[in-house]
Amino acid sequence: MFKVLQRIFKDKIATEAISTTGSDRLRGKIEGSCPSDMLAQCAASCPVGAFKASGEDYTVDYKHCLFCGKCVEACAASAGEGLQHSSKDVMPFMAEACQEVTEEVFKNKLGRSLHVRHLDAGSCNACDFEMGALGNSYYDLHRYGIAFVASPRHADLLMVTGVVTRNLEQALRMSYEAMPGPDRMVMACGACAAGGDTYGETYAIVGAADEVVPVDIYVPGCPPRPSQMIAALLAAADMMREKK
Ligand code: SF4
Ligand code: SF4
Repeated sequence: MFKVLQRIFKDKIATEAISTTGSDRLRGKIEGSCPSDMLAQCAASCPVGAFKASGEDYTVDYKHCLFCGKCVEACAASAGEGLQHSSKDVMPFMAEACQEVTEEVFKNKLGRSLHVRHLDAGSCNACDFEMGALGNSYYDLHRYGIAFVASPRHADLLMVTGVVTRNLEQALRMSYEAMPGPDRMVMACGACAAGGDTYGETYAIVGAADEVVPVDIYVPGCPPRPSQMIAALLAAADMMREKK
């Protein structure tokens, strides 16, 4: 024990600091403007209708965006100009007033507690793999007072990944109803659960999670990075604390 304390004092840090300031290898927020009036071409190339052009302006709905890069590829401008994927993360946002989560959420606050039940409603599993990384020694989710639980009856928050399939629609509804109210919360994690358009419209798909249960927080990405998931979970824990 003494040796452990000695090492902590010597190294100063026991676990890595997590932030969402982005990475050079990341396809992040779309930035830039089109110098050649070809934004309609970018909008037409978007597979999920997240890119909307209006004259010289454009908007990207990050609830739906797959970060596939098609709009940037379709940009008529030469490399280095026009639309680009920046290296900045797109932050999670709360459903209420579309309020974006900020880096402030990582500032050390004691007294947080959140119990999370995960439900895969029909994902490709990439979101779930990223979520699995939350428990490793790098992300070390437990240090924030957040833990995954085995039953919705023990959960404050339901974390939904994947587009809601007809097979799992009932499971999603039942999981939500089994959670203790009135302060239960739902997080739609990834473009499938948040936007519901990733696989188009088929007989097997219901759509986004908010078509079945009320969603409180959305995490953009396909898949989102673990750091974005932690930011969203911390914001949810803070929101839960305010409610009580
Ligand atoms: S990155 Fe892909 S999904 Fe996102 S706005 Fe561009 S084309 Fe659409
Ligand atoms: S959002 Fe992307 S990574 Fe996540 S389940 Fe859907 S397709 Fe897979």
